[in-house]
Parts: sequence; structure tokens; C-alpha cells
Amino acid sequence: MTGRLLALALAAALSAPAAEAQTAQSLFAAKSTPTDHRATPIGGNSRGCIAGAVQLPESGPTWQAMRLSRNHHWGHPRTIDFIERLSREATRYGWAGLYVGDIGQARGGPVAGHASHQSGLDVDIWVLPATRLDLTRAQRESLSSISVRAANQREVNERWTPAHAAIIEAAARDPDVERIFITAPAKLQMCADAGRGDREWLRKVRPWWGHDDHFHVRLNCPRGASGCVQQDPVPPGDGCADAVWWVTEALEPPDPNAPAPPKRVPLTLADLPEQCAAVLNWR
Ligand SMILES: [Zn+2]
Repeated sequence: MTGRLLALALAAALSAPAAEAQTAQSLFAAKSTPTDHRATPIGGNSRGCIAGAVQLPESGPTWQAMRLSRNHHWGHPRTIDFIERLSREATRYGWAGLYVGDIGQARGGPVAGHASHQSGLDVDIWVLPATRLDLTRAQRESLSSISVRAANQREVNERWTPAHAAIIEAAARDPDVERIFITAPAKLQMCADAGRGDREWLRKVRPWWGHDDHFHVRLNCPRGASGCVQQDPVPPGDGCADAVWWVTEALEPPDPNAPAPPKRVPLTLADLPEQCAAVLNWR
């Protein structure tokens, strides 16, 4: 082999694994527009993508989308409908509406800062009460949410209000909602305040790491979406007894048996359903 051919062969050998090693996140982040299909979630929330996503309008009568520069406000139309619905509901409790964090990318897929949000069925909602809906683009970059968790991580702080509980309860009662992630102290406070009546909705409110400055709503797979993979169902019951673990054992390292927060391994395109390659490479 001549030196020139050898150099070419070496270059090819080096570039093939380099392309393969590219994370699915960087590939999907490079696509700023959705595909032209009927909205179709593909795969699961943490290994999936979406064809035909639609964008949440950046402002509406009862919401504003935050951090517009990320271009993370694409999702399934049912997700967009839900956000509009819940934001109207929020006005019943004294908020001007909702400040909406990340939904997903234009074609879904792994997204910076999240393990899920891949199939257009997840949305983060800030716990900062919306007091005005005329924030400029710049203000939506610089404004931050608040935390509703006390420094001891065991209780909510003074920023938690009955309005937070009412809005999260409304989300949990929405038939399109599969589950909601929120910091454990907030779940426990809702458990304490719920009374003896109907506690069934509490089942969907799930404690999870983080989630003290936003709550995360996950929607059910839409009917007929055969490629959509739904998470194992939430166990029966209100989940209140189990939630105590989060403010006791989970806060007490170095118990070697305490589960650590799940590690995020960067996914490659091969980790996603096959159809996601077609979604990614569509035009
Ligand atoms: Zn989230």
C-alpha cells in the first residue's frame, strides 16, 4: 500500500468509530425543526424520539415558555393541550398562569440536562408562581425559579403554598397524566394536607431527586400510538408511606445499601428504537 492510500485508509478507520461515538444527544440537538408526520411518540420517555412534534407557542393567555434559546418546547399535541389546560387552571389559585420549562427537542431524543423528555410526553413546570406574562426573551433567560425545599431537605420551605398543592393536584387528576415528579418534602406535605377523603390522585405524585424548583409531568401514551412505550404503572395506594424513605434513609449516606441517583450514560443512536434514526435523518 502506498503511503497516500495508507493515510486514506487510516483516516477512514479513525472517522468511522468517531461518528459512532457521537452521542444521540448531539445528533438530535442539531435538528431544530420537527418532521412533517402525524404526531407519533416512538419508544419510551428515556429512550425515544417523536415524529411530527408541535411547538408550544412561546406566550399564551396563561403561560410563558422559559429559556427559549434552548429550543426545547416541542412535544406531542396532547402535551401542548395539557399545558394550556393546566395553565388556565392555575389562574383559579391566584397565579397569572404557568412558567413552562423544558418539554423536548423538535425530534425528541436525548436532551441536555434530562434523562427523559425524549418522546414529547414530558414537561417541566416551574414552581415559581407566574405573576406576569410579559417577560421578554432576555428575562426568560435570566430569571430563575425558586426552590420549595427547606435547607434540611426534609420539609418544604415558606415558598410552598396551597396554590402549589392545588395546581399539582389538578395535574394529577388530569386523565392524560401518567405521573408527576416532585421533591419528596412536597409530596409529604400534600399527603399530610390531603385529609381522609379522596386520596387516589396522590398516587401519581412521585418523589424524586431534584425537582425542588419545578415539577415534572409525564403524560400517558396517546391511544393508538403503538410505538409508544409506557413506563411500568405506578404501584397502587397513595404512596405516602413509601415517600418517607426520601427524607430519612435517602438522606443518610454512607449507608452502602442506599440506592444512588441513577447514573446517566450517554446514549448513542443504536440505543434508541430503530425508527428514531429515520426521524433524525428525515430531510
Ligand atoms: Zn423534567
